[in-house]
Amino acid sequence: MSTTTALSPEVLAKYQPVIGLEVHVQLLTETKAFCGCVNRYGGEPNTHVCPTCLGLPGALPVLNRRAVELAVLAAKAIHCEIRETSIFSRKNYFYPDSPKGYQISQFDKPIAEEGWIEVPGAAGATKRIGITRLHLEEDAGKSLHDGFADSVSRTYIDLNRCGTPLAEIVSEPDLRTPDEAFEYLTRLKEILLYCGVSDCNMEEGSLRCDANVSVMLKGSKQFGTKAEVKNVNSFRYIRAALEYEIERQIEVLEGGNRVVQESRLWNNAEGRTYSMRSKEQAHDYRYFPEPDLPPLVVGEAWKREILTALPELPEARRARMIAEYEINQQDAMTLTATRAFADSFEAAAKAAKSPRRVVSLITSELTGRLKAANLELEQSPVTLAGIVQAADLAESGELSSKMLKQLLDSCFAEGKDFAEIYEREKPQQISDAGAIEAMIDEVIAANPKQVAQYVGGKKTVAAFFVGNVMRLSKGQANPALLNELVTRKLDSLGGSH
Ligand SMILES: [Zn+2]
Repeated sequence: MSTTTALSPEVLAKYQPVIGLEVHVQLLTETKAFCGCVNRYGGEPNTHVCPTCLGLPGALPVLNRRAVELAVLAAKAIHCEIRETSIFSRKNYFYPDSPKGYQISQFDKPIAEEGWIEVPGAAGATKRIGITRLHLEEDAGKSLHDGFADSVSRTYIDLNRCGTPLAEIVSEPDLRTPDEAFEYLTRLKEILLYCGVSDCNMEEGSLRCDANVSVMLKGSKQFGTKAEVKNVNSFRYIRAALEYEIERQIEVLEGGNRVVQESRLWNNAEGRTYSMRSKEQAHDYRYFPEPDLPPLVVGEAWKREILTALPELPEARRARMIAEYEINQQDAMTLTATRAFADSFEAAAKAAKSPRRVVSLITSELTGRLKAANLELEQSPVTLAGIVQAADLAESGELSSKMLKQLLDSCFAEGKDFAEIYEREKPQQISDAGAIEAMIDEVIAANPKQVAQYVGGKKTVAAFFVGNVMRLSKGQANPALLNELVTRKLDSLGGSH
């Protein structure tokens, strides 16, 4: 087995990679797919089990209605057709963590088919990646190969995960680069999170991905022999594994050899894939319809009812927010990073004096500080309420932008929200009418043109004077008093007005 040597760009450029992804997501139900056991990660091994998920003789499965609803939501969100009558099948294989000796899955009549997801394409365009199918199935248990005193000689089995409802989402082989695969997974995860169908926690295994990858000469219509890279636990590693695997296959072909159809495991420490097994391609799962479950019927009425819970999806939401708040794509990505944040942002923006200013505070002041402090949005010491308060103070002229920046710096340095820092540091208000009048006189003297406009009837010019005096006072003039005094002063200049 050779490790990948540096292939020249000319050689790499001769080949076209072809990638398809299979994603398994655990559905966020209270109970398992076919029994009443709790569907929860962890717990004492073999405590979330019952005769049904242990596969004891005579125990019968009953389909979890909520699992169907979540699968339908996910399927619709990725533009799939929902099949009215789908069939559960038994996928037969022997593995120690699967006590029944088969997995209940769906085979030729899955619950949903023929969807798509858009990913960013070349030059600002988008590219549509086809989804072959989404089907429902159950998860297996876990084999524990280490962590025990006698792990060298024994493997332990934990069946808590057995029977957890899964949606398997299979893409068409439409992906052409590891970057596209990364984007597809990022979009898919975002959509699933927005719909609330899964927590997509890769560390806990609630989102798992296998990648099929092959290479062919550019211009060829015949796909090359594919290898399957299994169970990589982060999107970045999947991208790295695909990059490695593409070069490995090109090297094999350039050496005059043939790519073997096989499953390969990614070793992150070494940055390479290893052959896992090559004979298992001749899988014979002997699929047949599950005799213990009737056909699953999702009629029009039920489907409509389920889909009322479909939220505005991330892509549509970004498009709307770009128009509504006059922001760019990058800002929209920041604001819609999670549905919870986008929801609270929009609620906050609507409550603020100027939604635009809230957006610009987040995108220009907050995100830069978060990045510098290496924090995620949800870890920000300054809450959205704090941002709204700051934006309103800036909007009314009570805080200069310089002072605002200083206050935000203090928030991050001390890990405190804006309200607390502002309360402590807020500028002393000038409520002395004489002092404010002196500043008004100064601004009036410096701007005869605006004075003339005001006297000529353009009353809105008053705001210009209020703003200038506020700046002159370094944001410390009492705003209500300032407003009153400016109007009185200007009116006195106008005589009869
Ligand atoms: Zn059970």
